[in-house]
Order: sequence, then C-alpha cells, then structure tokens
Amino acid sequence: MKYNNKSYDYLIVGSGPFGAIFAYEAAKRGKKVLIIEKRAHVGGNMYTHKENGINVHDYGAHIFHTDNKEVWDYVNELTEFNGYINQVVADYKGELYNLPFNMNTFYQMWKVKTPDEAKVKIEEQRKAAGIEGTPKNLEEQAISLIGTDIYEKLIKGYTEKQWGRKATELPSFIIRRLPTRFTFDNNYFNHRYQGVPVDGYTAIFDKLLASDLIDVQLETDFLKDKETFVSEFPRVVYTGMIDAFFDYEFGELEYRSVRFESETFSNDNVQGNAVINYTDAETPFTRVMEWRHFDQKAEEGKSILTREYPQDWDRTKEAYYPVNDQRNSDLFMQYKKKARKYENIIFGGRLANYQYYDMDQVFNAALKAVESEFK
Ligand code: FAD
Ligand code: UDP
Repeated sequence: MKYNNKSYDYLIVGSGPFGAIFAYEAAKRGKKVLIIEKRAHVGGNMYTHKENGINVHDYGAHIFHTDNKEVWDYVNELTEFNGYINQVVADYKGELYNLPFNMNTFYQMWKVKTPDEAKVKIEEQRKAAGIEGTPKNLEEQAISLIGTDIYEKLIKGYTEKQWGRKATELPSFIIRRLPTRFTFDNNYFNHRYQGVPVDGYTAIFDKLLASDLIDVQLETDFLKDKETFVSEFPRVVYTGMIDAFFDYEFGELEYRSVRFESETFSNDNVQGNAVINYTDAETPFTRVMEWRHFDQKAEEGKSILTREYPQDWDRTKEAYYPVNDQRNSDLFMQYKKKARKYENIIFGGRLANYQYYDMDQVFNAALKAVESEFK
C-alpha cells in the first residue's frame, strides 16, 4: 500500500456528505484521516462542476431543503446559499400542470377554484376507486390523497418508469415525499429552509476536506482490498453499499439507477423553468433540468440542459435509489444485523443504511455519528 496506514486514526470510504462531514469533524478533534473514493472526484452525488459560467449538478438536481435549523446553520457556515425555491412543472402529453399537488394543479385539472371544491372532487374519486382505510401501496396512497385523474396523469407513468415496477408494488411513503396542499403555492417542498449554493456544492467539499489532517485518495475502491483495509485501520467509516460490503452474501439488494444526458444550447432560456417532469409512461426520461435557472448568477449566452433517464441497476451501474419494499427491507435487516458485529466500522449514509435519505438527513446522521464517536 502507498500510505503509512499506522499513522491514520480513521479510514473513510466515500467522500459524499456522510464521509466528508465525518472527516471534517474528526480532523477538528485532531484525528488523522484517510478518505478513499472510487470516483475521480470528491462530493458523492452532491458533486457539481462549472461550465459556461453555470453550476451543473452531475448527479441530478440537488436542492437543499430542511426544517432542521442545526443542519441549515451548519451548511450555511460552509457556503453561501441563494434563495432558490423549487417549483416544478409537469408535462403530460403536452398539457402543463404545476407541482406539487396544489390549488393550481386542481384548477388546471378540474377548473375548481376553491379548496372545498377540490376536496369534494378528490373524495368522489377516492370513493369511486373503492379505497378505504390505510393505503396498502403507492397507487392507493396517491388516489386517496389527490384522486384518480391526477394519479393517472401525473403519477402513474412517472412512478412506474422511475421505479421500473407497478405503483401497486411500491411503498406508499414514496409519494408522501411530495406535499399536497389546498393553497395556490407551487413550492415543491414544505420545509422552512431551502436553497442551492451560490458557488455549487463542490465548494462545500473543498472546505470540509481542506485540513492537513485529511488525505484523500481518489479512484480507489475499498472493496478491491477490503480485508487489508479492515485489518490495518483502527476505525473505518463505510458509506458504500452494505450488500457489496458483505459480498452479497444474503443476496443483492435492489436499487434503481439513472443515466444523465446533457446538451448545451446557444440560448439563455430553453424551457423556462429549472425542472420539467415528463409524467407520461412513453417519454423515456422522467425530468429535464435547465441549470441556469437554479443558478441566479449564471452568465448569459448559453444554457445547459440535462435529461434524467431511469434504468435498471446492475453491478456495472451507479446505485442511486434504494427500493424500500418489504423484500428489500427484510434483506437489509439481515445485513444490518451482521454489520453490528463489526465494532470498528461505522456504516453510514444512503447506501450503507439503504435509506432514501435527502442531504439534510445525511448531514444530521453524520453529525449524530460524530457526537456518538467523540462523546
Ligand atoms: P453519496 O453521496 O452517494 O456518497 C457516497 C460516496 O462513496 C460516493 O462518492 C461513492 O463513489 C463512494 N463509494 C461507494 N462505494 C465505495 C467503495 N467501495 N470504495 C470507495 N468509494 C466508494 N437530496 C436532497 O436533499 N435534495 C435533492 O434535491 C436531491 N436530489 C437527488 C437527486 C438524485 C438523482 C439522487 C440520486 C439523489 C438526490 N438527493 C437529494 C440525495 C443525495 O444525493 C443524498 O442524500 C446524498 O448524496 C447521500 O450522501 P452519502 O454520503 O450517503 O452518499
Ligand atoms: N412523482 C410522480 N410524479 C412527479 C414527481 C414525482 O409520480 O411528477 C413520484 C415518483 O414516484 C417519485 C416520487 O414521487 O419517485 C418522489 O418524487 P421526488 O421528486 O421527491 O423524487 P426524487 O427527487 O427523490 O427522485
């Protein structure tokens, strides 16, 4: 090995937010850290780069949104945020609707103008669909929240291509990520704090990893030399896939992957919004981002758009989304139980915990892990 591992207190696998925050906090406490990262850059899925004066998010649109003041203060210490508020437009076969589901959507769908009229319409459709009691799956949850018309046009097609399975086979919590509200408010999130960093997310990682006590080795896959790493480092923080750590011993957990395709235009404003979702089943992509609209300081003249194509995951692709259905949740519990026996390893972040975490949840989890490590 190229480094003198005896002098490090921690090996951190992965330079996404979980790994980078842990490294930063450990270094603040005088600990020496080596981060290994299999990609050619740090930042995990938060990584952004600048192109034609525009911050492009390489792994899909990342909007920081949270109710957690501690996390919001923490991330604002690291970088300056703009006041971006996500307001997504849905395109269903050429018809445009506002998201998330709100009075604008209900008016566009049904021409209803008051919250009471909208509630009556939703209740009629829920009853007609025969849905009673606790929703058993995503389809039932969606219809009981916003009725059959909106489910058919804005949810079914998008959801089934995003997840590669029927909405009746998906857990209902996935759709509860989106607010339903009876006001004319197109904010995609309900959280109190929201924004995108003025200088892109990568600037956060430059700051987190700046300490002389932190070394970063890129393009290094922990799993290629797992036994050596585990035996030679006193403490390990692992933020990769938990099933891969155990060499898929109990079977593969399922993930969804995504392919991103970008195009540069010699035009300032191509689609008129930061995100447009294509909610029919036939369009092969789920959403199109126009980066300059996230970026209030983007230079004029060019625009970069990225289309997001969902795809099946296999071991040659990036695992982006855990599929938290019953089978996978049970399988994850088996891995989790086994992981507990590794007392010198902290398993953290979206992949090691097999959780559909947003960034603020990962920040919070990393800070909690630090608290418990250094108490
Ligand atoms: P990651 O960011 O995935 O970092 C893990 C790192 O570990 C990666 O760099 C990986 O290469 C490395 N690694 C893995 N295995 C190994 C190994 N064997 N050896 C070495 N290195 C390894 N959250 C929001 O809050 N708002 C959003 O708008 C938002 N949008 C999203 C859009 C998309 C398309 C996706 C996929 C996610 C989005 N998220 C969003 C979620 C956000 O990306 C995650 O919460 C966050 O990045 C998870 O951080 P992490 O540190 O757990 O993992
Ligand atoms: N969703 C949908 N239609 C949309 C947007 C979202 O049906 O236009 C559903 C879909 O199942 C998606 C989930 O809501 O996976 C959560 O959406 P979100 O925008 O939070 O997805 P993410 O940004 O995590 O990919």
